[in-house]
Amino acid sequence: MRLIAANWKMNKTVSETREYIEKFLRLIGEPEDREVLICPPFTSLYVAGEMLKGSSVKLGAQNCHFERKGAFTGEVSLPMLREVGCSYVIVGHSERRHIFGETDDLINRKLVACLEEGIRPILCVGEKLEDREAGMTFKVVETQIRIALSGIEHLTDRIDIAYEPVWAIGTGVPASPEDAVEVHRFIREILRDINPKAEGGTRILYGGSVNPENAPEFMKHQEIEGLLVGGASLDPESFAKIVNSF
Ligand code: PEP
Repeated sequence: MRLIAANWKMNKTVSETREYIEKFLRLIGEPEDREVLICPPFTSLYVAGEMLKGSSVKLGAQNCHFERKGAFTGEVSLPMLREVGCSYVIVGHSERRHIFGETDDLINRKLVACLEEGIRPILCVGEKLEDREAGMTFKVVETQIRIALSGIEHLTDRIDIAYEPVWAIGTGVPASPEDAVEVHRFIREILRDINPKAEGGTRILYGGSVNPENAPEFMKHQEIEGLLVGGASLDPESFAKIVNSF
């Protein structure tokens, strides 16, 4: 089933979250042929989890720590996320990589921890503009994926991957669907090489300036098995339109 995910980033207080989810659930009904996921900030997870109980909309976090507990001031662990109802975690978002200095090795540790905890990670990968201009897109994406999946190659079917070109995130300039498809096919080849027995299981999503108008252009390609939506997911009407746009 294709996955349409909202990444709210550092937006929405608890009261704004309540208002959003109330509206959103009314707008989307119970879609049966697509999975819908909302990833609010940590402070809103509990209330969102309570409100989403009994609906098919899933809850995810935007980040996690790889240790289960301990002296890690300011961090949030996977058991904590599980207890508030998270079944997904976004790992290695480009803002985590570029603003907070997350490395491929750290991302690998987080993925291992997610799999141990039984929470499905969405691994984000993507090239910067200078990488694309230097013809390095495939090399960058391949390195990110191979390091992130090291030691868990046999479990790739428990992970989804979001291809998010850094130059397309929050810029209003999406990749063309054709360019996205090219990278998605390449990612699928890498996955086949890493885990020939997996036979799918990993969905490859596109993210980067998706909106209700361009979403169907992406979703008409079978290689694009979902969307990760930032800015356009902040308004419940706009996100519901994206969910129902294909
Ligand atoms: C994102 O944050 O993952 C993202 C794709 O953002 P936007 O949709 O705003 O480009």
